Amino acid sequence: MGNDASAIECRALTRVFRERRALDGLDLAVPRGSVTALVGSNGAGKTTLMKTLATLLTPTSGQARVDGLDVTADPAGVRRVLGYVPSEERSFYWRLTVAQNLEFFAAMHGVDPARCRREAAPHLEALRLTQRAATRFGELSTGMRQCLGIIRGLIHDPKVLLLDEPTRSLSPDLARVVWDLLRSLAADRGKTILIATHNLMEARTVADQLAVMHRGRIQGSGTLAELARTTGAGDDADLEAVFRTLTREAWEGDR
Ligand code: ATP
Repeated sequence: MGNDASAIECRALTRVFRERRALDGLDLAVPRGSVTALVGSNGAGKTTLMKTLATLLTPTSGQARVDGLDVTADPAGVRRVLGYVPSEERSFYWRLTVAQNLEFFAAMHGVDPARCRREAAPHLEALRLTQRAATRFGELSTGMRQCLGIIRGLIHDPKVLLLDEPTRSLSPDLARVVWDLLRSLAADRGKTILIATHNLMEARTVADQLAVMHRGRIQGSGTLAELARTTGAGDDADLEAVFRTLTREAWEGDR
């Protein structure tokens, strides 16, 4: 491993829970500065992969690197360059306000309150939370909590951002704001974004690269045109046809 063009690299990555191989010899390369959608059905292993990259789970075997840093050998280094937005927000302090929560988590990354306010301000504005800065977390709606999770993931200005189902609780208009934000973080600031989703429309809208995951492996990756070509799904195939082809082959191969 050690490809400079890739911000995330996994080689033969495996994670076993009891008998279940949630990651089963997974290979993946996420290009720097891309928005890559990790698409897969329920139980494909997306969250396990995200948590492994975020150093919250250790691999059973194989390797994973983020910005060239090994998740097992240098988890602290990985956490410095990486922002992680989990699918469920459980770790905020319910009695603290939006601003207090952000300052708390910023401090854990060594970011002082003034810089925290500066970094957060445009994101709070974009995600319609500026007026909620003094609201306690416990009084926010589910969608607002999800937006706050995205802002927290950005507070230390990470090079790589992982988001697990980031628009699950958002109305379509706000989901679009999040997609625009993610695209501009990649295009204008060179961030690498990996977003796990089973929403193919979301993947198609936000991502320039796709990685199709099934039963703990990446079955295919690249642009939609590349995937359409390699799967033989046809030049004008849509993502659903490509996804069906890749996951059906995986099912048939399992028998
Ligand atoms: P979803 O889209 O439904 O969230 P996913 O693609 O994120 O699914 P994972 O949550 O990574 O999938 O789960 C992959 C497999 O690993 C599933 O079979 C799941 O039951 C299993 N698994 C995940 N976490 C654990 C755990 N802590 N203990 C045992 N099995 C687990």
